[in-house]
Amino acid sequence: MGKMVHTRALGAYLGFAIGDAMGATTEFMTPREIESRYGTLKQIVGGGWLGVKPGQVTDDTQMSLSLGQSIIDGGGFSLPRVADGFVQWMRSKPIDIGSTVRRGIREYMLQGQLESAESEFSAGNGGLMRNFPIALYCLKDWQHFAPMTLRQCHFTHNNFIADEITLMFGEVTRCLLETGDKLAALKLVSRFIIEHPKYSYSRYKGENSGYIVHTFKCIMHHFFDSTSFEETIIRVVNQGGDADTNAAIAGILAGALYGVDSIPRRWRKKLDRAIAHEIHLQTDALLELPCVMLDDARTADRASG
Ligand SMILES: [Mg+2]
Repeated sequence: MGKMVHTRALGAYLGFAIGDAMGATTEFMTPREIESRYGTLKQIVGGGWLGVKPGQVTDDTQMSLSLGQSIIDGGGFSLPRVADGFVQWMRSKPIDIGSTVRRGIREYMLQGQLESAESEFSAGNGGLMRNFPIALYCLKDWQHFAPMTLRQCHFTHNNFIADEITLMFGEVTRCLLETGDKLAALKLVSRFIIEHPKYSYSRYKGENSGYIVHTFKCIMHHFFDSTSFEETIIRVVNQGGDADTNAAIAGILAGALYGVDSIPRRWRKKLDRAIAHEIHLQTDALLELPCVMLDDARTADRASG
C-alpha cells in the first residue's frame, strides 16, 4: 500500500471521528439555533443534547471501531462476530444508540437474527455511518466491498435506498483514497445521479435529517462546494440536524481528499486520545490484512469448538 494512500486513509478515519465529535454539539439543532448560540461553530467544544466532553465521539465512531476490530480479531469478515461486537458495545451502555440499531441488535440477541426485515422505515443512515472500516479493508480486493457492506448494513438497516447510497459512498471513498482526485469523484457522483435523478442535490435546500437521502444530499453539496477539510466540516456541522453523522461521513471524504495533514491541529489535539490511537492501529491493520469473507457456519463451528 502506497504512502499516499495511507496518508489519505488516516485522514479519512481521523476526519470521520472529528466530524462526529464536532457535530455532536449541533445535532438536532436548526442552522438558526446554531447561529444564535455559536455564531459559526468552528471549534470542538462538546455539549449538545448528549452533553459530550470536547473531543468525545458518539455511536458513529464507536460502532465503526467495533466493526473494524471484529474484522481484525476474527481474521476476516464474519457477520456473527461483527454482531457479537455490536452486542458487547450495546451492553457497555453507549452515550447514544439509534432506535433501528437497537432493534436490530435486540432481535439478534433474542432470536439470533442476522438480517433485519426489509422495511421502508429502515432508510436511515445507521448502516452507512459505520461502514468505513469495510471500505478500508476492501481497498486491496474491492470485489468484497458490496457483499460485506450489504451484510453488515442489513443487520439493522434493510432498505434498497440505503443500499444504493451506501454502496455509492463506498465507490466515492475508494476513488478519493486511491487517487485523491476530486474531479474523478464528482464524475462518479454525477453518473450516479444521471441514473438515479431522485438523488440530485443541485437544488439543495438544507435537508439535514438522518434519512439517508438527506445525508447524501447534505454531504455531497457541502463536500464538492468546499476547498478544504476545515471548510467542509464547518459547513456540515453548522447545517445542524443529524450533524454528527453527516459531519463524520463528510469527514471521510474530505480527509481522504485533503489528507491527514490538512486537518486543523486544534481539532486533532482535541480528539479523544484513546480513540485517535485506535484509529491509527486500525488504519494500519485494515489496509494490510488480506481481505477474507468468512462464512457464518464456519465461524459458528469455530466459536463452539
Ligand atoms: Mg451519533
